[in-house]
Parts: sequence; C-alpha cells; structure tokens
Amino acid sequence: MSSPRVPFGSPAPREDAAAVRAAIERVVASGWYVLGPEVTAFEAEFATACGARHAVGVGTGTDAIALILRGLGIGPGDEVITTPLSAAYTALAVMMAGATPVFADIDPERLTLSPASVAAAITARTKAILPVHLYGQAADMRALEEVAARHGVAIVEDACQAHLATTDGRPVGTVGVAGAFSFYPTKNLGALGDGGAIVTNDESLATKLRRLRNGGQTSRYHHQEPGINSRLDEMQAAILRARLPFLRAWTGRRRELARQYRVELAAAPVTLLREFDAGHVYHLFVVRTRARQRLQAHLTQEGIETLVHYPVPIPRQPALASLHPADCPEANRACDEVVSLPLHPGLATADVTTVASAICRFHED
Ligand SMILES: *Cc1c(COP(=O)(O)O)cnc(C)c1O
Repeated sequence: MSSPRVPFGSPAPREDAAAVRAAIERVVASGWYVLGPEVTAFEAEFATACGARHAVGVGTGTDAIALILRGLGIGPGDEVITTPLSAAYTALAVMMAGATPVFADIDPERLTLSPASVAAAITARTKAILPVHLYGQAADMRALEEVAARHGVAIVEDACQAHLATTDGRPVGTVGVAGAFSFYPTKNLGALGDGGAIVTNDESLATKLRRLRNGGQTSRYHHQEPGINSRLDEMQAAILRARLPFLRAWTGRRRELARQYRVELAAAPVTLLREFDAGHVYHLFVVRTRARQRLQAHLTQEGIETLVHYPVPIPRQPALASLHPADCPEANRACDEVVSLPLHPGLATADVTTVASAICRFHED
C-alpha cells in the first residue's frame, strides 16, 4: 500500500533532531551508560516539569507501576482496583507486583474509573486504587480521593498518557502517593526506545524505589531486598533531556489541534468525548461511533490512518482469565465504539481539515 495521506503519527525527531543527536553523541563519548549523570539530571528536570519533589527513572511505564506498588508493600493477597479501559500493561503491572487487579467500571462519559464503581469494589483486601489518566485527561480525582480516604487506601496514578496534565490545576502524579510515566516512543514525551519514570513527593518512597529498580542494592553488590533490574539508561535519559524543553510547546499544539477537531467535527456523524478539565494534554483524540468498522474502512479509503485504544477490555483478555475478573458493561461498550484520529505535534492544520471533512462525508447507514 502507498503511504497514507494522513499517517497516524511518527515518533521520529523533528525540530528536536539536532538536540537529540547531540545528546546521543555526548553519551557515546562519555563511556558511562547506566545510572550516571544523565539519569540524575533528567530525574531532577522531569520532577521540576511535573511539579513533583522526586523522580526516579526506570525501564518502562509498566515497571514504574509495579515498582510503586512494591515500594508501598503491596503484593500477594492484596487487591488493587483499576480500570478495564487502558493498555493491558496497567493490570499486568499489578500482577507483576504479585497483587490481584480488580476491575471497577468506567464512567460512560469520561471513560476513566467510575468513583461509584470503585467504592462498590472495595474489600478488606483492597490496598490501592490505580486510576489511568486516559488519552491525556485526568480521572475524576476529587471523587476518587474521597473514596480512598474513606477506606484508607492509597492512590497510585497511571500517568503514562498524561505528561504535564493537571486536574483542578494539580499536576497528575502528585495527587496520589506516586505517579507512573512511560516514555515509549509514541507517548507525549518519548524516548528512542523504552523508558519510564516514577514521580512522588514522598522522599522515603523515592529512596526505596531507587533501591528496588537496581536489584535492591544498598551499596555495590550488597542486595538488601529482592529488587528488579529496571533502570532508565543514560542514552534514553540524555535523549529525554533533549526533548523535555519542547514538551510544553508540543502540548500546546496538541490542544490547538484538538480544539480544531472539535470545531470541524461539530456536525459530524460521530460522538465527541467531553473535555472535563482544561488540563487535558490530548495524548489521543478519540471519538465514538457504533459504526466504527465502517468508519475506519471509509477513512482508510481516504488515506487516513486510525487506531483503536482499546479494542478489548482488560478483564476480557485471555491473559487474565484465571482471575475471573468482573465484567464491565460501560467499558465493553466503549471498546466497541472508540476510534483514535491522527493527533501529534507535527500534524498540520490542513491535515485536521482533511480528516474532519472525510468524517463529515461518512454516512452511518
Ligand atoms: C504505555 C502505557 C503503559 C505502559 O508503558 P510502557 O512504557 O510501554 O511499559 C501503561 N499504561 C498506560 C495507560 C499506557 O498508555
């Protein structure tokens, strides 16, 4: 097939290319590739950007979630309530920590964890609530904080799609006890490989996490506890340092393009998702339609790439079948209807018009 007129996106460096190349050269020449000055500097810079006191660089966003849970002493026999509508890695991370993911349903409009459904899922074994700030928009944190406080459980934030997002003006990742970020190449801040970070305002948790990511070592070759090997490497840290100064402008551009989609799709035969918080960072621009398959086929015909985030609710993934997770009807419905349109900082205004007018020409019947 020829290359699409409007591709979904490419994580390749653009205006940041020279800075990224310089960062790579610097690390190559340094002779220091794991847990060195680049990671230390990136952790400080990322913490500042997130409005958090501490950041800990780790191997992936998945590891970030699993490490936070382990850092909180959550493991076998403990339950963590999370959302059925996310990358499956959110729930897999809970399992990696040895705990059991329990699914509450989503709010049908916001598509993030329903606080009422979370409250109904709490048991004596519940140790944490793990909301996902889906598509770049924070979950309903005020209501979730209330549920968490009432039951004395921790909130751990999956902010892997929400770099720089805020909720009521508060930076995501700092509302709960800690937040997990991913730097997978397609995220709002991406590495040229895998990477992740944890942010927290809790100094003793940060210290514990620095140990846990490095095999549980307290000093070289002295392992205090069974940690894992999940370190952000110097190359990725340097690349992320080169890209971080662009993130605010990239986020602004994402918001602008989303606004344009909203205007140009106002009369289109798709349902737009409501923006609940101006702190939305538009990792994805998602619309809903009951005719998703035909809409996607129509857009493919027009040379427009789309994706589905996500086609299968996590409780229905065969990988979790042995847990017999609760079925979540709102999430099931969303998984059948959502479709993600191209949205990235390199997208042109004209591309949004191309996509929007193609959708306006689509007939549901
Ligand atoms: C990407 C993502 C993850 C996993 O991050 P990795 O760095 O790929 O491990 C977890 N949760 C959400 C919501 C994500 O988007």
